[in-house]
Amino acid sequence: MITVTSYTNKSVGVLGLGRSGLSAVRALEAGGSDVWAWDDIEEKRESALLLGIKLTNLYRSDLSMIDVLILSPGIPDQYPEPHPLTLKAREAGCEIICDIDLLARENNVSRFIGISGTNGKSTTTSLIGHILSSADHQVEVGGNFGIPALDLQPLDGDGTYVLELSSYQLERIPSIELDIAVLLNISPDHLERHGGMQGYVSAKKILFDRIRKSSKIIIGMEDNHCRSICLELMLDLGVENIIPIAGSTRVPGGIYVDNGILIDDLKNTKAEIIDLSKIPRLPGQHNWQNAAAAYAIARSLDIKSPKIADTFKTYEGLAHRQELILSSGGVSFINDSKATNTDSTAKALVCYENIHWIVGGQFKEESLGALQPVLNRVAHAYLIGRKLDKLGNLLDPFVSVSRCGDLASALDIAFNNACLTKPSTILLSPACASFDQFKNFEERGNTFRHLINNLGIIST
Ligand code: ADP
Repeated sequence: MITVTSYTNKSVGVLGLGRSGLSAVRALEAGGSDVWAWDDIEEKRESALLLGIKLTNLYRSDLSMIDVLILSPGIPDQYPEPHPLTLKAREAGCEIICDIDLLARENNVSRFIGISGTNGKSTTTSLIGHILSSADHQVEVGGNFGIPALDLQPLDGDGTYVLELSSYQLERIPSIELDIAVLLNISPDHLERHGGMQGYVSAKKILFDRIRKSSKIIIGMEDNHCRSICLELMLDLGVENIIPIAGSTRVPGGIYVDNGILIDDLKNTKAEIIDLSKIPRLPGQHNWQNAAAAYAIARSLDIKSPKIADTFKTYEGLAHRQELILSSGGVSFINDSKATNTDSTAKALVCYENIHWIVGGQFKEESLGALQPVLNRVAHAYLIGRKLDKLGNLLDPFVSVSRCGDLASALDIAFNNACLTKPSTILLSPACASFDQFKNFEERGNTFRHLINNLGIIST
C-alpha cells in the first residue's frame, strides 16, 4: 500500500467507498490525514463502518474545510448531471481529483506508463506488465484494472507503474506526468457520461496533456479519431517521440501487424519479430493491436525484441476476454463478458465460425455500429437482458434472434442448437453493460462459466 503524506494533518474528503475509495481512505489515514469519508449508498457505508472507517456526512459538512475531494471515477461531476456534492465542493473552492492523482503526488521518481483507449486497455496493461516482470523490471500494474493505484507497492526511481486509465479517471488526474502515454483506439462509449462523442474524445485527449517533452506517445492508427489526434500531436510535438501502431493495417515507420506478423518498422529496419497468429491468447486483429502497443512500450524501455517475442508466448490472457472455457465434442464455449460495446463484440465475432451468439444487457448505443458488417458470421443470436426490444429490433433484419431474457435459458437453447451443427462456438459477447442483471461483467462471466459447468460435459 502507498502511504499518502501530501495531506498529513489536513482534511481530505473521499466520496465513493468502492474499491478505489476505500484504498484512498486507508492510504490517507496511514499518512496522518483527517479523512472525511462518505458514500450515498447505505450498504457501502455499512461495509466501510465494519472496516473501521469513520464516516462524515459530506452533505452536512463545510467543504471549504477540506483540502481536496477524492471522487470515485464512477460519480459524475458534469454529465449527465453533476453530483450535488461536486457542485458544493466547487463552490467551496475544493479541488476534485481521483486516487491515481494521489499516487502521482506521492511519487515523482518512478516511471509512469498510462494506457487508455475504448477497448483493449486491460489486455495491453496486463501484457506489458507480463513483459516487464519477465524482463526483471520492478513493476506495479493497476489503476482502472485490477489493483487500485494506492494499493500498489511503493517503488523507487528504478520502478515502473503501469496504469490503465479510463476516460473517467483521465478527467481527474491533473498532476500525473506520464513517461509513456498509450492511446489504443476510440469508438463510441460512455457518451452519456461525457455529454456526447466530442466530450468523450476530449477526455481521451487529456492523456497527452499529462506528458513531458521527452515522453513517448504510442497511438493506434485504426480509427479516424486516433488518426487525427496523432496528426495533431505530430504537428505540435514533431514525430520523434510518437510511435504509431496498428494490428490490421500497415503503418510505415511504426509498429504494425501484417497478416499476423508483427513488424518493427521504427527505424526503417522492417524487422519481422513474431508470428502473432501462433499466440492462442491473443486472437484476432484487435489483440494484435494490443500486442503492437505492448511491443512499442517494451522497445521504448530498451527490452530486446527476442525477449519480447518470448514473453508473448507465455502470456496467459485475462478472464472474461475471449476466454475459452471449454471445448467439448466440437462445441467451444467462449466467455467474452468484458465486451460491453458494439465495437469490442464485433472484434470477437470475426474470430470464430458457426457462432451461437449470446448478446444483450444494458444497450448503450443507438445503432449496431461495427456489428452490422459482421453479423453474417452469426448462426443464431440469443438475446438476454431486462429490455430486449431496442437491440432485438435492430438485430432482427440481419440475424435470427431468440429472445431468451436470462443467461441460463440462452445457454440451454444455444447448446441444443450448437450440438446440431458442429463444429460450432457458443460465444457470450454481450455488446452491452451488465448492470441490468448482474453486479458487473465479472459476475456475468462467472455465471456463464458456472452454467457451462452445470451442463455436465467434459472437455475433449
Ligand atoms: P478494456 O479494458 O479497454 O475494456 P479489455 O482488454 O478488457 O479492454 O477487452 C475488452 C473486450 O474488448 C475484449 O473482450 C475484446 O472483445 C475487445 N478488445 C480487446 N482489445 C481490443 C482492441 N484493441 N480493439 C477493439 N476491441 C478489443
